Amino acid sequence: SGSFCRKFKLMTKIKKSIELFKEAKLHMPGGVNSPVRAFKNIDGNPIFFKKAKGAYLFDADNNKYIDYIGSWGPMIMGHSHPKIINAISKQLELGTSYGAPTSIESETAKLIKQCVPSIEKIRMVNSGTEATMSAIRLARGYTKRDKIIKFDGCYHGHVDSLLIKAGSGVSTFGLPDSPGIPNELAKKTLSCEFNNKDEFLKVFNKVKNDLAAVIVEPVAGNMGFIPGDKSFLKLLRKKTSENKSLLIFDEVMSGFRVSLGGAQELYKIKPDLTTLGKVIGGGLPVGAFGGKKKIMDFLAPNGPVYQAGTLSGNPLAMAAGSMLIKLLIKTNPYKGLEDKATDLLQGMKDVFDSNDIPFSVNQLGGMFGFFFSEALPKNFKDVVKTNDKHFKNFLNQCINNGIYFAPSKFEAGFISTKHTKTEISNTITITKNIINKGI
Ligand code: PMP
Repeated sequence: SGSFCRKFKLMTKIKKSIELFKEAKLHMPGGVNSPVRAFKNIDGNPIFFKKAKGAYLFDADNNKYIDYIGSWGPMIMGHSHPKIINAISKQLELGTSYGAPTSIESETAKLIKQCVPSIEKIRMVNSGTEATMSAIRLARGYTKRDKIIKFDGCYHGHVDSLLIKAGSGVSTFGLPDSPGIPNELAKKTLSCEFNNKDEFLKVFNKVKNDLAAVIVEPVAGNMGFIPGDKSFLKLLRKKTSENKSLLIFDEVMSGFRVSLGGAQELYKIKPDLTTLGKVIGGGLPVGAFGGKKKIMDFLAPNGPVYQAGTLSGNPLAMAAGSMLIKLLIKTNPYKGLEDKATDLLQGMKDVFDSNDIPFSVNQLGGMFGFFFSEALPKNFKDVVKTNDKHFKNFLNQCINNGIYFAPSKFEAGFISTKHTKTEISNTITITKNIINKGI
């Protein structure tokens, strides 16, 4: 059949990736170091890469792909940006880690504070997970309360307290929660429907006396791409303030992605704490959390809440991150990114519309999403209902034809300044060819 032929063609095309995956599975659980990379959701074989430049990835078989993942966010100015490579190279010659302070940490902190004014003080860590884990410990220590409210489908890293109804890979594999998290701890986290004010109020009123924090992705990118409703986010701000609970915006993904000041700038809402990652490391492993001075000074060594890291503020990561932030400040590319994402999605939507395939789209700055559904999903439940068969078949055909979209309907899309009209129109043409053959 046609689908068998296509599968065979793909297997020949990615022969080396298939071999490398076999080898990797001997050494690492599932052959990967992060689950979503395994392509299980689309019954595919992960592509193994060896090079990336601008908007393109090159795999082990020398196939070329237009990349709409961008390392899940950081590559906002494209892969292997010469200025970032140069910044890393310069630092490389001076040493890779000292386990001691450097001036580049303050420089990076100042750049972030300049863009995100709700951050008065910041601490660097090594991943988004570490940032959210530390932020909720700080919130609990500062408020002397234990409970956390989060939202279904929001992913905040694989932190014990936050891996409750998390999106992203957890949803990709149909695991609502993970074994290994003590019930006693899980009970302290309550999850409500995203963008649902009534449900939030109900839960909030039940637990408010012991509520340390509400944590949310103001623009969610782990149940597909779903921006929060402004009135919903404003309600979270109002209720947490009244209750002296902290509002944590997890902007690991949206920070420096949807605008220079993150989602909080677009919504004009100031959280108490913000978590960051991805873009601020320029492609190297970084996370950070920051916020009100009074709260941040509750951290060791100033305060009693302990948090530390051997490689935190690593000079290579700071060199890459600060250079990328400087480039973003200089060029402010967000409007251009959003315009390009709009062109891409509208072009794709026209193709699906004319073939009577329900398709909905959304974008903000350098982030976007598409769903195989009539109406745009507003929450996790809506995303679950979108068409799996269309998603899986379309995604596999995209890979077969040199377009690399996130291989799960629970992930967002990312565009870079290096995606030009050429990449956009090629993507639309390829979409047309795929649909003409049937998905
Ligand atoms: N928070 C959000 C909103 C994220 O999107 C992610 C990762 N996708 C994390 C936290 C965790 O970051 P990391 O993978 O760097 O631990």
